Amino acid sequence: MRQSQLFTKTQKTSPKDEESKNAQLLIRAGFIHKEMAGVYSYLPLGWRVMENIMRVIREEMNAIGGQELVMTTLQNPEIWKRSGRWIEEGADSKRGLPWFKTKLASGGELGIANTHEEALTNILCQHVSSYKDLPVYAYQFQNKFRNELRVKSGIMRTREFVMKDLYSFSRTEEEFRMFYEKCAKAYLRIFSRLGIGDKTFRTFASGGAFSKFSDEFQTLCEAGEDTIYLDREKQIAVNEEVYNDDVLEDLGLKKDTLEKVKAIEVGNIFPLGTKYSYALGLKYRDEHGEEKPVIMGCYGIGLGRSLGTVVEIHADEKGIVWPISIAPFHVHLIGLPGVESETEKVYKELSANRRIEILYDDRMEIRAGEKFADADLIGIPYRVVVSAKTLEQESVEVKERKSGKIEFVKIDQLPAFTYSKTHLV
Ligand code: ATP
Ligand code: MG
Repeated sequence: MRQSQLFTKTQKTSPKDEESKNAQLLIRAGFIHKEMAGVYSYLPLGWRVMENIMRVIREEMNAIGGQELVMTTLQNPEIWKRSGRWIEEGADSKRGLPWFKTKLASGGELGIANTHEEALTNILCQHVSSYKDLPVYAYQFQNKFRNELRVKSGIMRTREFVMKDLYSFSRTEEEFRMFYEKCAKAYLRIFSRLGIGDKTFRTFASGGAFSKFSDEFQTLCEAGEDTIYLDREKQIAVNEEVYNDDVLEDLGLKKDTLEKVKAIEVGNIFPLGTKYSYALGLKYRDEHGEEKPVIMGCYGIGLGRSLGTVVEIHADEKGIVWPISIAPFHVHLIGLPGVESETEKVYKELSANRRIEILYDDRMEIRAGEKFADADLIGIPYRVVVSAKTLEQESVEVKERKSGKIEFVKIDQLPAFTYSKTHLV
């Protein structure tokens, strides 16, 4: 894509009303737009990153048997009344769901989705009746609306956000557990593909009414809102919420091997037992004709929060440093004044391979120094510069954003070189 066509502009200074690094950098670089506190739009660059994150998650969810659907944002109160969660209200999760509700013009109330256990369980009542219909693993990418009391971490805690939420429907506790563990592994693969794997740990957290624990996926980061106790060797952690002697003993952890660290909850998986299947009447007949409630689990990942976490972790004083797997483009091509037609040629040749995604800074009126500063801020993994000097050697200069390492590559070898660098993962 030509940068002259990109409607977003970069900003030299950070917005004053943002404290978090992720929002400051993403706004300055033109990835997101703040609508109001805790509500952000994704601009073309930001949406490309979101799509990449979605692709990674979708691949891993499909690989463990997930089926994608999309449920509605407007929620039917009648269904929620059956589980008792319509009346629970409050931004504090201990008191209940952080509902946004609205009114119908014709009278009566509607809910605006903050989670989808009730909705999906109700849908499955029409499709599941026999043991032959199970298990079912269904997921969506969908906007959630939560009336959060405080929003202070940029796009990591917002009132509207895209969540990947998967729900599992199993016949037995054993079948449920098998999938739960499979999904936990898939989550670790996802976070590692997003470039935060070495800092993300499965973390025991409070399980609510249905089981002793749930599992969070916590990414070590000073900007995190959570405190966890991490055993690096065992690669597991315990959330401060449930940290006590009994729990440590249960998990075979020793106090003196644990580090107390700040972390961001990027994902959360939860046993739900039969709470919603009982409430909404989701049952099946087993091999002997006996009627049983379906056993459920839920599995969430916040896309904005994951994106924000990547920025918190992969950035330097000049800007963002995207991991290649989710970068908005692979290559940032920059032509210097005087070699415009040669740069056009490089752009055409490189674009011939559709799988190499290029942002081409063809802006005429912008100085080279400014283009370089923008490239560092936007954070595309490879910067390719065409100049009179490089052309003398029929080459271009390729700079890796992460290491700053510079190489000269012959123009005729550039497509193969770039492809090999950008398609390892
Ligand atoms: P938290 O404890 O951070 O408030 P939660 O436990 O209420 O989150 P879940 O319902 O478990 O959140 O949601 C699953 C995932 O959705 C979380 O792990 C997180 O990645 C994301 N998420 C939750 N709340 C928000 C929010 N307000 N803004 C952005 N992402 C969120
Ligand atoms: Mg959670």
